[in-house]
Amino acid sequence: MTDRPIRSVAIEAGCIACKLCQDIAPRVFLVEDDRDCVVRPDASQHFAALREDIEQAARDCPVEVIKVEHGSTPAPAPRA
Ligand code: SF4
Repeated sequence: MTDRPIRSVAIEAGCIACKLCQDIAPRVFLVEDDRDCVVRPDASQHFAALREDIEQAARDCPVEVIKVEHGSTPAPAPRA
């Protein structure tokens, strides 16, 4: 676990289209045609708000093909 912001999310070959990641974060992941999962083109605008969901999807993916890269700077502290 890290407090650094998510920089990128990618899905490597080997997805079994179980839809778990789509169920967790449907604004980020999309299973197309019950065959392949993709990261939605506009997903990056949700990286900050959905960081925990994205990291949970990556942890829970049964074949571990979701790769999350984090930036080098800490995430900004929530505003009071
Ligand atoms: S959780 Fe993993 S195997 Fe399941 S649809 Fe998402 S990327 Fe594919």
